[in-house]
Amino acid sequence: NMCLTYEPEERPSFRKVLRELIELMRKDPTVFHKRYLKQVRILGEGHFGKVTLYLYDPANDGKGEQVAVKSLKQENDKISDGWIKEIEILKSLYHSNIVKYKGCCTELGGQVVQLIMEYLPLGSLKDYLPKRNLPKSHCLMFAQQICQGMNYLHSKRYVHRDLAARNVLVENDSLVKIGDFGLTKYIPEGEIYYRVREDGDSPVFWYAIECLKESKFSFSSDVWSFGVTLYEILTRCDRRQSPPDKFFEMMKEAQGQMTVVILIKLLEQGLRLPCPKDSPHEVKILMERCWSADPSERPDFESLIKKFQILRQ
Ligand code: ADP
Ligand code: MG
Repeated sequence: NMCLTYEPEERPSFRKVLRELIELMRKDPTVFHKRYLKQVRILGEGHFGKVTLYLYDPANDGKGEQVAVKSLKQENDKISDGWIKEIEILKSLYHSNIVKYKGCCTELGGQVVQLIMEYLPLGSLKDYLPKRNLPKSHCLMFAQQICQGMNYLHSKRYVHRDLAARNVLVENDSLVKIGDFGLTKYIPEGEIYYRVREDGDSPVFWYAIECLKESKFSFSSDVWSFGVTLYEILTRCDRRQSPPDKFFEMMKEAQGQMTVVILIKLLEQGLRLPCPKDSPHEVKILMERCWSADPSERPDFESLIKKFQILRQ
């Protein structure tokens, strides 16, 4: 813990306190100095952010530590408020299935420009799964870990709002972590949803029906997105079966209207993504319950964890 402590009878001089404070800040492990960050390669990009692998090497001996650094694609004032929130949220989360916050890098003048997190060498599930032929039980283990991270997030009253394979990161062959809290919102005690007004950049094919119709985001709408993520995992993130591709396939008769309008109609008719080929019947049932039109009929993450425990055996 970073603080200065003095005995009650001790009366340190102002200069002493200042000197010790500067020393403390220099040693603060969450402050990363830009001059020691050496770019290695770009890891990925989403709508707002860009994530790059850097070597943090203050000793300049090439031995430093690898860190993933997220920055905004273009900095404008409108998103900068959300940017600080994203950092604050990640900073407050501690769970084995959530990507770890390491610190920040600030520009002169104190503006936070970059978010430093642990580097997960295997990338997102979307990079990882297509290259391997994971057995079903392994897929279900990853699904359960996502539920564990989500259950923790919900216990802190956050809705993620962007749960998808591209936002789940792989540490090693037996551990995944949830990342990307760029759309995460806090739901105050006593309330059940968060209403957003948003531009056209939303991940609509992962959205629950009430998110599309009324922009209402709740713990249960995250469960719907989890169902889509589970679908992605069981298709091993095969591009030809991706949720947008599958939905566009179902939508091709209805043309001339806006995608979201058609998507709502289709979901209201009860149409859903198909169950991936080799999934057991119980998984199919579970996935469909995550996609119940009535949010109250969807399971919560705690019960999903228990379900996967049984299914994995
Ligand atoms: P955005 O908010 O722009 O979607 P993300 O946080 O989702 O940004 O990161 C974009 C991509 O960068 C991810 O899909 C993933 O491939 C890669 N990535 C993000 N964080 C890490 C990390 N800590 N380690 C390794 N790769 C990462
Ligand atoms: Mg993302």
